[in-house]
Amino acid sequence: MNAYVESVIDYVRKTYESQPEFVQTVEEVLSSVSPVMDAHPEYEKADILKRMVEPERMFTFRVCWMDDKGEYHTNRGWRCQFNGTIGPYKGGLRFQKNVNESIIKFLGFEQTFKNALTGLPIGGGKGGSDFDPAGKSADEVMRFCQAYMSALYRYIGPDVDVPAGDMGVGGREIGYLYGQYRRLKGTFENGVLTGKGLTYGGSLIRPEATGYGAVYYLQEVLKHENDTIVGKRLAISGYGNVAWGIMKKAAELGAKVTYFSGPDGYIHDPEGVDTEEKINYILKMRAEDPMHCASYAEKFGCEFVPNAKPWGAKDVDIYMPSAMQNDVNMESAEKIAASGVKYYIEVANMPTTNDALNYLRSQKHMIVAPSKAVNAGGVAVSALEMSQNSERLVWTAEEVDARLKGIMAGIHKESADAAAEYGLGYDLVAGANIAGFKKVAQGMYEQGVF
Ligand code: GLU
Repeated sequence: MNAYVESVIDYVRKTYESQPEFVQTVEEVLSSVSPVMDAHPEYEKADILKRMVEPERMFTFRVCWMDDKGEYHTNRGWRCQFNGTIGPYKGGLRFQKNVNESIIKFLGFEQTFKNALTGLPIGGGKGGSDFDPAGKSADEVMRFCQAYMSALYRYIGPDVDVPAGDMGVGGREIGYLYGQYRRLKGTFENGVLTGKGLTYGGSLIRPEATGYGAVYYLQEVLKHENDTIVGKRLAISGYGNVAWGIMKKAAELGAKVTYFSGPDGYIHDPEGVDTEEKINYILKMRAEDPMHCASYAEKFGCEFVPNAKPWGAKDVDIYMPSAMQNDVNMESAEKIAASGVKYYIEVANMPTTNDALNYLRSQKHMIVAPSKAVNAGGVAVSALEMSQNSERLVWTAEEVDARLKGIMAGIHKESADAAAEYGLGYDLVAGANIAGFKKVAQGMYEQGVF
């Protein structure tokens, strides 16, 4: 490995020992860009890597709110403005009780390269809180969102930093956050947030975009392998918004999701989640209980396996982990490799531990695609939402969908081309890292040292 790359990884390991997820993502990205650094000694001279692993700035703030019983609670809030080289900071907000600084930083770092890959002018950012939405009433969620925005509003703006949703933050939360921003600022700057409702500047196809984009990317991979999506069986994890989009688009294209999971276990529906009734039930189940998916098995008469994940199932063609980080460890990766399934398409942010990812990549019979490329359709449509807001126009669903399709094909091609350029064959993981990195590095280089 390039000595400078190695020294920066080493520096991050030592400096951020207490931030394991952040160290993990730095190791993953930087180890791929070694050949780029060999080819560009000027990047080393400008100390691009050391600058790149440090967020431009990061805010930590207190969020105090009152529950329905009149009791006060104090949560921690963060916003990380990781890299603004190619556009306003852009990335979601995650509300989940295990959120901490390491998780926000790993997501912000990933977001920087993901956003660069979309080809759209958006920098990388991420935020969130250790607020636990489970079991909270709508009023409590509203008061929390208002308190959160009261702390954040002075640091964001349509040309500064544009948050969106992530786990625990959907259309309802974005509505409360935007309402509070508008009240505090006294302006209708709806380009400050994306994932908005359709009545106040949201984009058609935004709720579906991450899942649809993942399936469009998958189609590009299949095309590359002279294969087709028709008849394919998908094993995914999760049953949130992203999983729902995958189920919907897969069904539309003649494929089907036959396995999905929740924190309580997994569902095996050999018929597939491919009817309108089943797909709508996913949305309902998620809204009512984000922790349990078992009720699907009762309702549709299929199998539920408690406390397990679907990794290792042989009666599928494609794996798509779509739940959360480090969902697939070495033990699961060994089962996946042994199953003989060819396609491993990451969807959630960093769903695979580094050792498991490298193991899967080394399997001759497998094709592995990385989440920062596969799930980029969500943030890409967010950028399209920003364009619509600044034009004060609303594009049709067909127009947004066609652009999304084109963006996903572009991401796949750029990743494959970048890998080929450095003699790495069809390595989509290295290719995505290289393509995203080159854009950010070159922009930083041209903008000078500061
Ligand atoms: N949270 C999503 C992501 O991980 C979407 C971010 C956005 O739309 O800004 O990319």
